[in-house]
Amino acid sequence: MKVGITGCAGRMGSLLVQELRSGAWDDKGLVFVGGTIENTEEQTFDFDVTSHADELFEKADLVIDFTGPAATRQHIWLAAKHKTALVIGTTGLTEKDEMEIADAAKETSIVYAANMSVGVNLLCALVEQAAARLGPEWDIEIFETHHKHKVDAPSGTALALGKSAAKGRGVDLKDTGVYERYGQTGARNVGDIGFSVARGGDVAGEHTTFFYGEGERLELSHRATNRSIFARGALHAASWLKGKPSGLYSMRDVLDI
Ligand code: NAD
Repeated sequence: MKVGITGCAGRMGSLLVQELRSGAWDDKGLVFVGGTIENTEEQTFDFDVTSHADELFEKADLVIDFTGPAATRQHIWLAAKHKTALVIGTTGLTEKDEMEIADAAKETSIVYAANMSVGVNLLCALVEQAAARLGPEWDIEIFETHHKHKVDAPSGTALALGKSAAKGRGVDLKDTGVYERYGQTGARNVGDIGFSVARGGDVAGEHTTFFYGEGERLELSHRATNRSIFARGALHAASWLKGKPSGLYSMRDVLDI
């Protein structure tokens, strides 16, 4: 299977290249790594590198995409056009983008996950379970910290945790999510799911879902200490996707959680 990497000079893209080089991929001889950004041509790669996204999607059997929303919006349609399997890790995508991903997945197989780690996907399942068990009198607050270069907030993972909590409670995050508090906010509404965000340093990603009760508090946390867990998760999703029929899959499908 020929694997293509978009944005292979980025933080995640270069980690994926490193993992592939260190032999993480079984079919080593067939690996194809491409970049669709300008400066890749100036770097030394012992793989094929292209700055043409269309060429990358045509040549590869599967593409792993950790770029940004504008790039991913184009990549999903190139994947559909060339029937290239796709693993999307990009965050900051809108609801409309997610609907387009589902449309593109009618033509090819796609795994889309805001977080590729085993721990976070298990955490989502645990948060859903806790939210289902604890009544709305337990106030749910999601707190996350990421490195100072992150461009979207709250993180895709925090939103995925919010959606899991909302699902557990049988409500929609659109109606219950609270993303800003400043000044005279008034008291907290019962059933709100609140988000808070910190940015700084080189933090790979920390998430805590708090359930505040009367006289007690439950905290479910995950701390990523190394970004390579996301790269390895993406490669695991790529292996899993091999031979799967067209459709949209989540990391929880991949990990069977
Ligand atoms: P980054 O800025 O280091 O890398 C992004 C790369 O994409 C850059 O090299 C950029 O030049 C490239 N790019 C931009 N537009 C492009 C285009 N049109 N075609 C090809 N390449 C293009 O960012 P990063 O830290 O590697 O994160 C990338 C994305 O992955 C972000 O959305 C981030 O939130 C997400 N992310 C997801 C997970 C996960 O587990 N799902 C984990 C970490 C990061």
